[in-house]
Amino acid sequence: MALYRDEAVVLRTYKLAEADRIVVLFSRGRGKIRAVAKGVRRTRSKFGSRLEPGSIVQLQLYEGRNLDIITQAERVVAFTNLRANLDSYGRAALLLEIVDSSVEEGESNRALYKMLTGALRELERAGNPLVVPTFVAKFLVLEGVQPLVDACVRCGSANDLVAIQIHEGGVLCVNCPPGEPISDEARRALAHVFEGRVRHVLDATADTVAQELETIAAKLIEQHIERRLRSSAVLYEQLQEETNR
Ligand SMILES: [Zn+2]
Repeated sequence: MALYRDEAVVLRTYKLAEADRIVVLFSRGRGKIRAVAKGVRRTRSKFGSRLEPGSIVQLQLYEGRNLDIITQAERVVAFTNLRANLDSYGRAALLLEIVDSSVEEGESNRALYKMLTGALRELERAGNPLVVPTFVAKFLVLEGVQPLVDACVRCGSANDLVAIQIHEGGVLCVNCPPGEPISDEARRALAHVFEGRVRHVLDATADTVAQELETIAAKLIEQHIERRLRSSAVLYEQLQEETNR
């Protein structure tokens, strides 16, 4: 069996047999992996506490036939502040869920790995409520599905953009209702992130706008994940039909 090392974020874990756990990881080199941590549910386990969701760990694993086996786990960042703050912990959980539901096993995605670890570190450093909305916006850019925010998605006007219609993929002007209201500050913050000015948005956005952006980001990611699930279901049905023919 081959032995390998990789750095990874723990996405989630679940019980296996009496003392073992399955650990779902998003690794830098190999993307999403499902691995077994043997004996971690015993009290004297060497590394059980290091494999909590949200942890960034340096791992050594054996390639298994079905599941890889974790033989070593070293913590890269302790995340003391993040775990002590319920809001930050909730936001971290949301990031993990987004990545878990959006990536397939065994597909390496270094850009997304960098984004996820960067967002977790920012939550640890500053507990910033803008971490989730900026992560979502960058993620949509990475997937090539960011909404249009500098012109009305129906008539193309660049003036009086007052609403957002997520299903139509962008903002609407005052003459093209209806849609959910969006403030100019929130719309501009999204535009900044789409253009790569994330630091500026993290540092210079008012709290009220942060709340608005969190709500918009939740709707954007929900629609994106639903669409992804639907298209993979359609793809699966087509494959089934083709193989049945
Ligand atoms: Zn319009």
